[in-house]
Amino acid sequence: MPQKTKETPMMEQYLEYKKQYPDAFLLYRVGDFYEMFYDDAVKGSQILELTLTSRNKKADEGIPMCGVPHHAIEGYIDTLVDKGYKVAVCDQLENPADAQGKMVKRGVTRVVTPGTIMDKSDQAKDNNYITAITAHKNVFGLAYADLSTGEVKVTSVSSQLDLTNELQNLDTKETVVSGSFPQKYLDQLRKFGILISKLDDLDDNYTFDYSKITADTEVNTVKLLISYLIKTQMRSLDHLKPAESYETSSYLLMDHSAQRNLELFKNIRTNKKSGTLLWLLDETKTAMGSRLLKQWLARPLISVGKLKERQHFVQVFLDNYFQRSSFQDYLTKVYDLERLAGRVAYGTVNGRDLIQLKTSLEQVPEIKSILLDIGDDELTAYVEKIDEVADIRNLIDKAVVEEAPISVTGGGLIKEGYNEQLDKYLDASKNGKQWLASLKAKEQELTGINNLKIGYNKVFGYYIEVSRANIDKVPEDRYQRKQTLVNAERYITPELKDKESLILEAEEKSKSLEYHLFDQIRSKIKDQIRRIQALANILSRLDVLQSFAVVSEEYHYVAPEFVDKHELKITNGRHPVVEKVLSNNSYIPNDVNFDDKTDILLITGPNMSGKSTYMRQMALTVIMAQIGCFVPAESAKLPIFDHIFTRIGAADDLISGDSTFMVEMREANDALKNATANSLIIFDEIGRGTATYDGMALAQAIIEYIDKNVNAMTLFSTHYHELTELESQLPGLRNVHVDASEENGDLVFLHKVLPGPADKSYGIHVAKLAGLPNDVLTRASKILSSLEETSVHTTTSESIKEPVADPIKEAKPVVVEPAEEVEEADNDETQLSLFPETTKKVKK
Ligand code: ADP
Repeated sequence: MPQKTKETPMMEQYLEYKKQYPDAFLLYRVGDFYEMFYDDAVKGSQILELTLTSRNKKADEGIPMCGVPHHAIEGYIDTLVDKGYKVAVCDQLENPADAQGKMVKRGVTRVVTPGTIMDKSDQAKDNNYITAITAHKNVFGLAYADLSTGEVKVTSVSSQLDLTNELQNLDTKETVVSGSFPQKYLDQLRKFGILISKLDDLDDNYTFDYSKITADTEVNTVKLLISYLIKTQMRSLDHLKPAESYETSSYLLMDHSAQRNLELFKNIRTNKKSGTLLWLLDETKTAMGSRLLKQWLARPLISVGKLKERQHFVQVFLDNYFQRSSFQDYLTKVYDLERLAGRVAYGTVNGRDLIQLKTSLEQVPEIKSILLDIGDDELTAYVEKIDEVADIRNLIDKAVVEEAPISVTGGGLIKEGYNEQLDKYLDASKNGKQWLASLKAKEQELTGINNLKIGYNKVFGYYIEVSRANIDKVPEDRYQRKQTLVNAERYITPELKDKESLILEAEEKSKSLEYHLFDQIRSKIKDQIRRIQALANILSRLDVLQSFAVVSEEYHYVAPEFVDKHELKITNGRHPVVEKVLSNNSYIPNDVNFDDKTDILLITGPNMSGKSTYMRQMALTVIMAQIGCFVPAESAKLPIFDHIFTRIGAADDLISGDSTFMVEMREANDALKNATANSLIIFDEIGRGTATYDGMALAQAIIEYIDKNVNAMTLFSTHYHELTELESQLPGLRNVHVDASEENGDLVFLHKVLPGPADKSYGIHVAKLAGLPNDVLTRASKILSSLEETSVHTTTSESIKEPVADPIKEAKPVVVEPAEEVEEADNDETQLSLFPETTKKVKK
């Protein structure tokens, strides 16, 4: 920042505040504008597309400046925060008129940061998390909150990888660390695009009762989080719920790449919700329900008891269509209670919000009676816990008008009959208006001017208006001219002015009394926030469960049965999302079977045949089962899984700066090290990121390792047909393949998964489907045939022998005469090729 010889007093004040918020845009109120200066102005004008000017006072010459009108500030704040910046708002704390020539008192009234933004209506269905992390050797404490809903959670993870995963899974918008947090971890986190905010002083002077929200052991991390929230928000955090502590291992674990690859929340190609599991399952009626569903999906359960409870409720909703649909009708009228409660605590709630709160509460008795009417014991027990919060409903009903205005200071908010004094004021101003009407009639009669009007404006107050044509009839002795318009003149009379002050005084007093009453109501509601939150909690759970019922009914899902052994049997299973997007029931169902001896299904088949879909289908079925939903199958029996590992080739690992192959190997390593016999591993063409021999060798070694040491249920798809030979040596491995057939040289995908290995790889057929030029296809066929002739025989069972030469290099100089036809090798013996795409026969 350029140093001036001497600043004006205002700029001195500005710099004082700017010093306290060096990492935020400081929006500094001057008159009707919020101004930015210096670097903030230069950068801000670019981001917000504002005109950059400079202050023209002599001493401030050359200071870059830009500003936004005060009433439009929220939009600009949103834009900055959306882009990952922080904004400190410096307001005028007194009316400039009262400053009497001295500097107007100002102060920063709030700091908005990406993790603490409260009201983003376009993101009602998403949580907005801010996280705090602390490090103790290799263990990281992690606390996070959604300021808008009041949810606070705390946990710990024991590696840096887990930390990154957890932060990414939470989609945290901002992460707070203390000044002493090790730099090496920070660098790593930043690499993943995580926004870090440092809080140097843990201010113990804040009066916040930590015992209310957390247990001792986790105090440091929670304290860091709360300190930061208090420092930035500068207001009540009464809506924060007691911190919920959990162990990551009490849920089905999925690292971030598994969440991404399985497209639980985001479509990999579009980055949108459409085409994801969340998109499919979300038939919730409230934003709260939608957020809870997302949380359930991110953390499926491992407790059979809890899952059975959810399943039971889903079944009840399925069995009672009539009650379910009327429950849905009432739910639709329930607003976002969690966020309304947040706004009450925050002091940003307005009259309309309170009417929304009332409307929501009004649905509750109906909802209760519908659900009780079903007569299911478990549901009844659950529903009977519902507190209708009727006192708050009645309070709002008595106090706040239905068509409440947005402003809480402009009056027109409180109902007649709620407060005696207010009624008197309202009466006075109403009487005043009647008096004005009779004055108009009287003056019309006295003057004979029929179109004489009484009007009001801010400058002159009440006035009498006479059109130009009637000016000569104006009684000059009584009327005093105030304003001349093109077609009319405006006058006042002493009588009118007398009454005016009475009317205006009553209006003013009533407005300020209304605000006072509103504030009282707000604080009465604030005392009951916990009850509103508890209600929100029950309603959102029921919302998610009815959503499961809707989806299960529409797509014919079944309740999965959980078994307590290493066994899985899915009959006619489907991939729920692919099934939904495919038209006219064309999805081909497939079985998945693991008996107690099977660990690995080795899946072969041509590209595009459905290998990847089959593997994802299984993973999604597991996840759906473990959130308590029904599953896309004719019947399903499965164990409870503790962890899902995936390696699904997707070239979106670039963010971390590693090569795809490196990421592939790291993910494989993660699975081999951490998977248990209760885990699910999905490896899609592991090893294909390197040279053929390398890749195949690695793939085989990984399979052997899983079979011997891990015993997790594993789906392993591969193009290395040689690997299918492993079935004879590894007791835990079974071959399956996805069927395809050739008709007149064209490939027909049957999408049916059958026992045994595939016999062909059809790479060139797929290339043809993709529309590659004929010349390329013909040439490829020839090279292929030629390669097959020179292919090396080998056995996969022992070890892969060192190749005589790198087959890739070998491939290049193969010369095939254009006219020469090479017969396809037809040999009943096992003929193994070095090329994954090679057409060949494999001994069955
Ligand atoms: P692979 O992994 O073998 O290359 P994919 O699993 O990506 O093949 O499947 C390719 C396409 O085939 C999918 O996009 C889907 O449209 C279709 N498909 C896959 N499995 C089925 C199935 N069981 N029924 C119908 N269509 C399927």
